[in-house]
Amino acid sequence: MSSPLNVARTWDLSGYFPRFDGPEFPAFKTALRQDVARRLKHASLLDPLSELTLTAWRDEISAFEDLATRLGHLSSYVGCLAAADAAAEAYRAEEAALASVSAELEKLRGELLRAVNHAPDALLARLEQAPGLAGAEFFIRRLRHEAGLRMSTAEETLAADLNIDGLHAWSRLYDTLTGKMTFEMNWPDGRRESLPMSQRRSLMANPDRAVRQAAFTGGNRVWAAQEDTLAAALNGIAGTRHTLNRRRGVGHFLEGSLFDAAVSRRTIDALFTAIHTHAALPRRVLRLMGRLQGTEGVAWYDQEAPMRLPSPPPVDWEQACGLVARSFAEHYPAMGDYFEDMLVQRWVESEKRPNKRPGAFCTGSELTREQRVYQTYNDTMNDVVTLAHEVGHAFHSHVLRTTRPLATNYPMTLAETASNFGEMLLIHGLLREPGLAPAQRAFLLNCEVGRAPSYLLDITARYEFERAFYEERTAGEVSVSRLRSLMTEAQRKVYGDALEVGGEDPYFWASKLHFYISGLSFYNYPYTFGYLLSHALFAQFRREGTDFLPRYEAFLRRTGSATCEDAVRETLGRDITQPEFWAEAIHSIEHPLKELEALLPSLVGTK
Ligand SMILES: [Zn+2]
Repeated sequence: MSSPLNVARTWDLSGYFPRFDGPEFPAFKTALRQDVARRLKHASLLDPLSELTLTAWRDEISAFEDLATRLGHLSSYVGCLAAADAAAEAYRAEEAALASVSAELEKLRGELLRAVNHAPDALLARLEQAPGLAGAEFFIRRLRHEAGLRMSTAEETLAADLNIDGLHAWSRLYDTLTGKMTFEMNWPDGRRESLPMSQRRSLMANPDRAVRQAAFTGGNRVWAAQEDTLAAALNGIAGTRHTLNRRRGVGHFLEGSLFDAAVSRRTIDALFTAIHTHAALPRRVLRLMGRLQGTEGVAWYDQEAPMRLPSPPPVDWEQACGLVARSFAEHYPAMGDYFEDMLVQRWVESEKRPNKRPGAFCTGSELTREQRVYQTYNDTMNDVVTLAHEVGHAFHSHVLRTTRPLATNYPMTLAETASNFGEMLLIHGLLREPGLAPAQRAFLLNCEVGRAPSYLLDITARYEFERAFYEERTAGEVSVSRLRSLMTEAQRKVYGDALEVGGEDPYFWASKLHFYISGLSFYNYPYTFGYLLSHALFAQFRREGTDFLPRYEAFLRRTGSATCEDAVRETLGRDITQPEFWAEAIHSIEHPLKELEALLPSLVGTK
């Protein structure tokens, strides 16, 4: 490093607005609210897309882009302020106020859907080629697809009204019921205690197996006692979805989720085929975990437990910045420069102080094309990895800085590629550092392989269960006993003998909130997709070296304007509809896993 890094721990938000309580912020807000209202009024008076209204609708699309960009600027700013000072009521009030602007803007999007719904293809093609809309083709095509899957306006309005007391009510019932649940915890030392269900998850991540098992057993007694109510909620949610899908002309229950993920069924099938074929690798990680705790395989309640490794020494903030900068600069100079620039401009918030919201995130504005990274840095190696992860997200936005906002909205499937790439750059950079202590080495290797069971087995089991359940639900309500057996069958099939005999969780369908989110189905698989895609890309980078990087950036630039298949094929020349592509990604964990397996006996003295 030529000059010392700027290691300030608080961020500078003046790129958004000079001051929160200055005149610019309220003026910006008022103008946005007025412009949204004006545009909405104008659009609602327009006839659907025709020769006559083509120019007018082109202007509405551009206006929508402008308004969404301004709203994004405000939400990003307010989000930063609220996260960094969660106690300040003024920020929370601003967050609430933004939700109403956002709802108004959604109505404008509804008008765009109305415009394109029955438009002939030729006319739509002319709209895509209209001056000022270059680069917005994908956005327009997706609008059209979405519009085609809507019932009449009257039916959609009725459905939305009924959903408040139907679909969403089931979800609220779940939240209310589980929010008040308590379970009896029988501590290993004989103490008995009634605990809120919300504490069960952290107890199931406890290093002591007896604690995990007690939390699991105590919790499942309560889930079992409520199984009829929960099964009714789950059946109610899925049944409503099936009915709406039928009415909307949606052919398969996965379609909506696949559309959101901008991916085809063929690709997802290829992905899961590869996982089932190569499940031996992630299972090996679990068996390693088992060996460390003295068991053959693991039980369901062991999965969240920390791998029993010695903890690496603490790393202060200045060292952390140095480690990230150095490992980026060495193998990806453009990313190294970008990170140093972020530090110089004070785009990173890392200070440890009260009243910060937990967690880490990356945000940014498409108006200023600036990014910000938020975390609370606690001197751990985990936090260094988080920093590299969030800077990876920021770099993705940085690469998209010359792309029009309508073409930057990437799906969840492509959202984690750049962040995982950032993590892997750091990990691989550090693994090459001379004089690395064995504990540090094991920590880094575990960063690479430790998450494989959750992405490749846990999520796969959830997907298998959910798919089987939705399949059976088409024929009528699915009974409680059938839900239990579908769940354990899915776990058995995916985990194989890495899961102890009797180690399944028959009530996972009840305890996992994700199955009860009324606005979203098949919540989890995009994460597996992202995890494997980033591994595949990083493996390609390691094979091809720096020649790969321009294509990688071309890929990042395409993430908001193409399907996953097209984005990968056009820029990286790979076919993700084939299981081989995914198999290669899974196999990239084999080498670090072997190294970790070899390293462990010397670290923890297992036989
Ligand atoms: Zn992320």
